Amino acid sequence: MLKNKIAVITGGARGIGFAIADKMAKNGADIAILDLCDDAAGKEACEKIASNGVKCSFYRCNVSDFAQSEEVVKQIITDFGRVDILVNNAGITRDKLTLAMTEADYDAVLNVNLKGTFNMIKHTYRQFAKNKYGKIINISSVVGLMGNAGQANYSASKAGVVGLTKTIAKELATRGINCNAIAPGFIGTHMTDEMTEAAQNEIKKSIPMAKIGTPEDVANLALFLASDMSSYITGEVIKVDGGLYM
Ligand code: NAP
Repeated sequence: MLKNKIAVITGGARGIGFAIADKMAKNGADIAILDLCDDAAGKEACEKIASNGVKCSFYRCNVSDFAQSEEVVKQIITDFGRVDILVNNAGITRDKLTLAMTEADYDAVLNVNLKGTFNMIKHTYRQFAKNKYGKIINISSVVGLMGNAGQANYSASKAGVVGLTKTIAKELATRGINCNAIAPGFIGTHMTDEMTEAAQNEIKKSIPMAKIGTPEDVANLALFLASDMSSYITGEVIKVDGGLYM
């Protein structure tokens, strides 16, 4: 489905980002992963991805840093020639009730989840517009649509990603570029592993399908949105949440 395409995936060394990178590689795309992890972990992730018979390179990059992400995008374009698919997946949480949330907690989450997404779009925007082709996929969250006690920073960042997605979709719609968001519910990754078992069981009770999703559930939708099967879909926010929020 993605033969000869070049995909950039932020936070691609583990969790949902890795599953998306691996799924796209299995479908023929060459992959650049950006992550904060050390070179050994980045290399290990890349080796697994490249075992699908595609090219994969790891770039250590903090997406919340405007200048650093600009340099890395330039390097990727030098190394791969262009970018066809951008997946803004890197994200963090710093959960606390608003009463206890510090300014630093708020800023850290907004800087990675929302500003990081903006930075990556900003630095690839011109080449997408010039090439008249592109698939931008932003990972939001159901929490950005429904709110969640203890996640003022996270839900605000993910709601911001929805607004950013729709704006970019409108700006680039006539240039052959699709920009959509995925809003996962609870997906089993390092991020959710940090929750207690009791909290996870409580969550399952609120999910109509009564189970936590897998990174592959999200990757399947990302593959569809990255492919030309979704050519007439833009500015959408699609949930992958087992019916949690409907
Ligand atoms: P994860 O397992 O924690 O993976 C996130 C990845 O992003 C990590 O590899 C992390 O690197 C990287 N990262 C963090 N900050 C970064 C930065 N500033 N620059 C570059 N890379 C950075 O999380 P996940 O569960 O796979 O989540 C992926 C995305 O899905 C996030 O945007 C998250 O908000 C969203 N999401 C997840 C769930 C869920 O239930 N898991 C639900 C809804 C939405 P390090 O580990 O090296 O720091």
